[in-house]
Amino acid sequence: MSDPEKVTGGLNSLGAKDIFLLFRDHLEPITSYVIKTFGHDRLEKILAASDLKVIGPVTISNQGFDFTDSTFKVNFGEISADLIKSDFGGLYSALYTEIKTHLGPKVALELFYGVFIQVKDKYDYVPVSAFLDIMPEEIKSRERLSILSRKELEDQVFERTKELEEEKSKVERKVEERTRELQAEKNKLETVTENMLEGVILIDSFLRPIFVNKDGRRIMGISDSMIDKAVEIFDRYFTINSSKYLSGELSVSRSISLEKEIDNLIYEISFRRVSPVRDGENECYLIWIKNITQFKLLERAKSEFVSVAAHQLRTPLSGIKWTLAMFIKGDLGLLTPDQKAFIMKTYESNERMIILVNDLLNVEHISSQGAEYSLQPTDGFDLIENILVDLSSDIKNKNITIKLDRGSVPAVPMDAEKMRLVFQNLLENAVKYTMKGGSIIVSAKKEDHFVTVCVADTGIGIPVSQQPNIFKRFYRASNATRIHTDGSGLGLFLVRTIVEHHGGKVWFESVEGQGTSFFVSLPLRAI
Ligand code: ADP
Repeated sequence: MSDPEKVTGGLNSLGAKDIFLLFRDHLEPITSYVIKTFGHDRLEKILAASDLKVIGPVTISNQGFDFTDSTFKVNFGEISADLIKSDFGGLYSALYTEIKTHLGPKVALELFYGVFIQVKDKYDYVPVSAFLDIMPEEIKSRERLSILSRKELEDQVFERTKELEEEKSKVERKVEERTRELQAEKNKLETVTENMLEGVILIDSFLRPIFVNKDGRRIMGISDSMIDKAVEIFDRYFTINSSKYLSGELSVSRSISLEKEIDNLIYEISFRRVSPVRDGENECYLIWIKNITQFKLLERAKSEFVSVAAHQLRTPLSGIKWTLAMFIKGDLGLLTPDQKAFIMKTYESNERMIILVNDLLNVEHISSQGAEYSLQPTDGFDLIENILVDLSSDIKNKNITIKLDRGSVPAVPMDAEKMRLVFQNLLENAVKYTMKGGSIIVSAKKEDHFVTVCVADTGIGIPVSQQPNIFKRFYRASNATRIHTDGSGLGLFLVRTIVEHHGGKVWFESVEGQGTSFFVSLPLRAI
């Protein structure tokens, strides 16, 4: 692309060689025309008269000037563009005058004009417009406008090109910036994943490993080059069939966790389904490997401590209970009414301690891994009715209406002793947290392969903000602690542990001040 600014310098702004080539392209066809029309001699005369200084002596062949030869002889570095211009300019006007005189202005103009058009097509705006300066007036006036519009066009193209180039460099800068940002993000992510103290394996939907972090490689003892085989090695190492967990069971729940003990280390392994890492692809899977040995050892130590302490407490508490009972009955001599009232209070406190110790022992026993479950088809309602007999005096004291709706549900495989604890806790809570004159409805129904029992009361309810914590160990809602200062907060934890061991689910619906419904759902097929 030529720079329009240069035009101001006219033909002089071009190099001597450019001007020479320009004239050659124009003069060659004209001189060959002159030879054809007037003969060789006439051309020589014209040439002599024009007194060419620069390129002469020029050989004249049958086709006209032999510029090919001259081109190589001339040292353009030493000749000024002005000189060539005046040289050729003179020859050029001599030829034009000659043709015009002998063949008329029309022929001269047509010949020069035709050749000029060819030159115009071949060269850029700058040389052509400069060349036009020494054209006969007729051609000059005819062509100036078209040359100018060509200049405008070239200017516009030049402007647009400039804009596009600016645009392009802006886009390039943005791409560079974005690439830098992405690189920084990638580095951040790599730093985190490579330095985290958990193993991570990312797998595509065809169970091919996409990524294994440093700790994952370390745990399984694999090198970078073995990453393609990571899932295979993982399965062998942990004796797990990943495809079973990933393809089958993840379609039911979105995440599965299990524990594996290898070489005295305990790992928690979770399989999770995650969003695709690349657009348009299927979901991916993550396998998390966490070393939970320390946590497990602590938990074991704590459980051992709690059960030893609870066991040790049970015997003296029973001793205290019997001694107090003997006082109350008068076996150890008559008591004054005041003494008796104090002893009664002590007896009740001792009873609460016994309940707490039993709860603790139950929790530790039932949540320990070795707890054995023996499932037998059982009618849950028989257990419920039995428990209600035990609770009858409280129910009567609080004037609570009980309604049982057995429905027509089949017997469910369950460990009756442990499920008794479940229903006992739910019914005790319902009675405990329902005010005088309230009511409790216990119902059951079968849905698909599950039987669901519901214990609904019209009691104090559970505040929404505290509902997420209700199954946690030792958690008690604030409205419950206000009306019942005693209570261990262990009951529901126990309920959930037992129900989940049966492959079932427990949940509740509650409105504070209106009541609570607990649902226990057990599978009909033994798991
Ligand atoms: P505890 O009854 O000994 O406090 P639980 O583990 O059985 O412990 O229950 C935990 C908490 O859940 C209770 O303290 C109470 O806040 C709430 N809760 C359980 N059942 C009911 C119910 N039927 N109505 C209202 N609140 C309940």
